[in-house]
Amino acid sequence: MNIEEGVALSRFTTIGTGGPATAFGRPETLAALEEALAWARERELAVATIGLGSNLLVADEGFDGLVLKLAGELAAAEVEGERLVAGGGAANAVCLHRAREAGLGGFEFACAIPGTVGGGVWMNAGAYGSDWAAILERALVVNGDGTRWLSPDELGLSYRHSGLQHGQVVARAEFRLEPRPVEEIKAKVAELQALRKAAQPTNKRTFGSVFKNPGHELSAGRMLEACGLKGHRIGGAQISPRHANFIENADAARTEDAIALMAEARRRADEQFGVELEHEVEFLGPLQVPPLR
Ligand SMILES: Cc1cc2nc3c(=O)[nH]c(=O)nc-3n(C[C@H](O)[C@H](O)[C@H](O)COP(=O)(O)OP(=O)(O)OC[C@H]3O[C@@H](n4cnc5c(N)ncnc54)[C@H](O)[C@@H]3O)c2cc1C
Repeated sequence: MNIEEGVALSRFTTIGTGGPATAFGRPETLAALEEALAWARERELAVATIGLGSNLLVADEGFDGLVLKLAGELAAAEVEGERLVAGGGAANAVCLHRAREAGLGGFEFACAIPGTVGGGVWMNAGAYGSDWAAILERALVVNGDGTRWLSPDELGLSYRHSGLQHGQVVARAEFRLEPRPVEEIKAKVAELQALRKAAQPTNKRTFGSVFKNPGHELSAGRMLEACGLKGHRIGGAQISPRHANFIENADAARTEDAIALMAEARRRADEQFGVELEHEVEFLGPLQVPPLR
């Protein structure tokens, strides 16, 4: 497998920010993935995998390690009986397409989640009352020490969380779906996409929800809206005028602009509601939101 140096990760994040990776590779098979992990281990390099970068903020300084982006058979999806078998790098849109073609339902909720199977496992992605944990049977996780199939329990899936650590790569996953008429699947997807379009910025560069919903009567978005943050801008990043739990790349934003907005949002939610918001977006590289106190 070819390893490239200094690849700009802004090319691979939906917000379009982030510095370079020391090393970058696109393994297409399980053997190539294992080889890449061994290569990094020999050099004592940290490893991180990226999917479609739709839940990811990469530091402007970049990531000092090997970044893997799964390709080839590790990004393909097919139906076997009533199961969807997909590579960790398979886009949700491709999985949904395969499931629909085969008349299998259960994956429709993911139509509005612009990521991959592996990214979904990492944070137990979910929407409209369902999530990865509800349909995932098992995932093949590879790290420098070996390769193991893990169940949702072993993966530690809970609300927008798994117990996975960087260096553990979701190479494949199997989902349990159920027979459903194709027209019903199409109608459900159209309904969910219309709901999404009505409520969220769908034509802007964002990384999805910034904060997890707190245990409060208000969602994170409603809370930040009540703090008057819609449209608030720092540098090239702004809080979406449409939905306050989204940050948009308004004009040549840097990751530091998004982090500054997140810090301001947390400060205001703490001040007005006494709530400490926890970020949902994942960080790569030396990044942190300054503590409240
Ligand atoms: C417009 C928009 C709407 C969104 N709506 C939703 C929503 O409704 N619900 C929701 O849950 N999310 C939503 N998201 C966020 C995002 O799409 C999901 O979290 C998605 O699952 C991330 O997948 P990804 O492949 O893009 O992961 P990335 O953003 O590339 O990575 C996210 C994390 O997963 C890790 N990772 C990625 N692939 C692998 C792998 N193969 N093995 C191990 N680790 C891996 C990365 O290291 C990183 O820590 C939205 C995002 C956008 C931009």
